[in-house]
Amino acid sequence: MNYRRMQYCARCTYPFVTVNLAIDDEGVCASCRTAEEFDKLTPEFWAHRRAVFEKNVEAMRKDRRSDYDCIIPVSGGKDSYFQTHIMVKEYGLKPLLVTYHGNNYLPEGNYNRDRMREVFDCDHLVMGPSVEVLKKLNRLCFRKMGDMNWHAHCGIFTFPIQMAVKFDINLMVWGEIAWDISGMYEPDDFVEFSARVRHEHGLRGFEWYDMLNDPQEPLKENDLLWAKYPSDDQILKTGVRGLYIGNFFKWDPYKHTQLMKDLYGWKESERPFDRTYRRASNLDDRYENGIHDLLKFVKFGYGRGSDHSSKDVRTGYMTREEAIEMVRKYDHVVSDDLYYWLDYVNMTEEEFWRTADRFRDPRVWWIENGKWYKDNIWGDSSAYGEVHLSLEEQKRYQRG
Ligand SMILES: [Zn+2]
Repeated sequence: MNYRRMQYCARCTYPFVTVNLAIDDEGVCASCRTAEEFDKLTPEFWAHRRAVFEKNVEAMRKDRRSDYDCIIPVSGGKDSYFQTHIMVKEYGLKPLLVTYHGNNYLPEGNYNRDRMREVFDCDHLVMGPSVEVLKKLNRLCFRKMGDMNWHAHCGIFTFPIQMAVKFDINLMVWGEIAWDISGMYEPDDFVEFSARVRHEHGLRGFEWYDMLNDPQEPLKENDLLWAKYPSDDQILKTGVRGLYIGNFFKWDPYKHTQLMKDLYGWKESERPFDRTYRRASNLDDRYENGIHDLLKFVKFGYGRGSDHSSKDVRTGYMTREEAIEMVRKYDHVVSDDLYYWLDYVNMTEEEFWRTADRFRDPRVWWIENGKWYKDNIWGDSSAYGEVHLSLEEQKRYQRG
């Protein structure tokens, strides 16, 4: 008999089995409850938060030794623009913009990134690792953890603090707190950037030295200099702190996007994405909305359709019924950046699926007649693609 392995939030579209979420008596997920808490916050609350931010920034400025007031890690996305807008236009500060360039930019992403030093009158440091090293890391991390984009998460979380140490800048200004929504932190925690946040959330518990000694993809220590976190001594000497602007300013992605378009000519993707209806996210990385996210569906049974529609339900832009249609339409789609990537790293599609199948969560997926099956949020279960595993490997996914 069929039994439901996947359970979903009664309010949004998030599954419980695989997303580390708590569910309450009413069947509502912790993310939806956190969003509810945020919704209750008044304008007075945010005015107070803003004052706290200003006090923090002022204190850091008093102690600074650099001629730059702060570092802003930017990809060139709408959030990067918003962070820079606040620091430059509202507070008149002198930031150094820093970017990790993982060689995955979409054309509009390139345009937005390079436009920042025009519209904000800022200095901008862009660091791109060797493309040969990046190709090796794409393949290696795909085989190792089912994530070709590990290098990007590593670079984004490492390069800014390396530059903080190098230029002796004591403040980094980050954007949204991406993981508050999982119910892990509350607004009053005032979570800041830390080595732990980087290691656990950004790098999945892997470090640069875990990438050495792979027989298929030989890499040397000096291929990965950009991936090394500074020492405690260096960080203490600089006294650098990383504040999240999302702790202090009400975060409304739609409003911010519109504002950045109006003020600075920020551009969203001209071409729709295959795996989401949104066009304003992840223009710095063609795979984030594509096969990087497809692998999340392969692993855990949900994708960007669920992520984006759940957020839109929480902010009131969408009903749950509309959100479920987005899940139905987008979560399973094999996006065409797969072929771009296979060509980029010189891998066959057969190897891609054989490797990807090894990461499927047996709590989500089972095998019937050579096909992958999973439960759907709209109430039935259906087949999603061929199985590429040996008979031995398939045993994990037999039902019963
Ligand atoms: Zn929910």
